[in-house]
Amino acid sequence: AMRVSLAEAGLVKKPSHSASTRVRVSVRLRPYMSRDDEGKEGLCVRGTGNQSLEILNWRNTMETMSYQFDAFYGENSSQQEVYTGSVKPVLSHLLTGQNTSVFAYGPTGAGKTHTMLGGAQEPGVIPRAVRDVFQMVREESVLPASQDWEYSVSMSYLEIYNEKVLDLLEPQDQDLPIREDKDKNILIPGLTQRAIGSFSEFESHFLPASQNRTMASTKLNTRSSRSHTVLLIRVVKSQRVLPFRQLTGKLYLIDLADSEDNRRTGNQGIRLKESGAINSSLFVLSKVVDSLNQGLARVPYRDSKLTRLLQDSLGGSAHSVMITNIAPEQKYYFDTLTALNFAAKSKQVINKPFTRETLQTAALKRQREEPAPNGYALKKI
Ligand code: ADP
Ligand code: MG
Repeated sequence: AMRVSLAEAGLVKKPSHSASTRVRVSVRLRPYMSRDDEGKEGLCVRGTGNQSLEILNWRNTMETMSYQFDAFYGENSSQQEVYTGSVKPVLSHLLTGQNTSVFAYGPTGAGKTHTMLGGAQEPGVIPRAVRDVFQMVREESVLPASQDWEYSVSMSYLEIYNEKVLDLLEPQDQDLPIREDKDKNILIPGLTQRAIGSFSEFESHFLPASQNRTMASTKLNTRSSRSHTVLLIRVVKSQRVLPFRQLTGKLYLIDLADSEDNRRTGNQGIRLKESGAINSSLFVLSKVVDSLNQGLARVPYRDSKLTRLLQDSLGGSAHSVMITNIAPEQKYYFDTLTALNFAAKSKQVINKPFTRETLQTAALKRQREEPAPNGYALKKI
């Protein structure tokens, strides 16, 4: 098939200047979950490799658009695969005093919370990463080279809602300030920080705080998805002897606000105000990621609370991973395109129709091999 490169149109980004500054971008496609009556007409995106996918072009159905990422996880990918492929590799830097941030991005229902939190049967990135942090600390602390060092782990948990920073461990209605110290470390004076010595101790703080958040979200309708939920795990390594060096590594695990464009979802009043804040903070985040990945001199961290908070943990010597969650159904099409354009390293238009036959065959084959997720059976042809 003839390939039309978009480089001429300036749509392909320049390679990054510094490998460590770059934000690594993964895309995860969740399984098809729509009801029977919607049929498979709805499918409009599929994986084409472990770094690529294609989506039909709504402007011209004789074309598909092909996207490249650092990693692509298809609908059958497990929590384990996503974690080991994209998150685990960046955690080791924590013990060398470098910062790490992991984000889940995408529209409502595309799998952000599933990816970050998961369930008891299929734990997501957060429980896996916290377990591994304790494991890493245990392993390093018994090495002979570590005998003069002391290790401590602590957590904070907050949400950013309407550009306000709210403590989830000690909820109050106060908007906490974000400050920078003389060494350019970002800190939030007044934010609760709890020492944690084990995974179960982590859970004893995290689970009730998450519960608070869920209850608040029910009362305020869909508030939870309108806020960025930020878990901070801090690992401090202190030398017990001269020169008493201290290394701090921060790990941010973030379930971002839903990314859909709220101008299209008919939001009004308070919802519209929230939408404005969300859309602009996600827009700033995309500008920050873009600036870092293009090696631009000015990175607009200060333009939103979220990026300001992450200024020392996104870019620079930090290691960052964006997991873009997308859904395969037609009704998500424009949100999927927005998410992919946010995430894409490169895009190509290929003039080959997006054939539904191929998809139906694939879907049917899957249906024969395994039960459909969440009890929804795929429609029989
Ligand atoms: P979001 O947080 O982006 O709004 P959720 O994580 O709540 O989306 O996912 C919406 C629904 O889809 C949930 O019922 C979730 O369990 C399910 N889901 C999401 N991703 C997957 C996946 N990869 N495999 C199975 N179920 C998934
Ligand atoms: Mg969610």
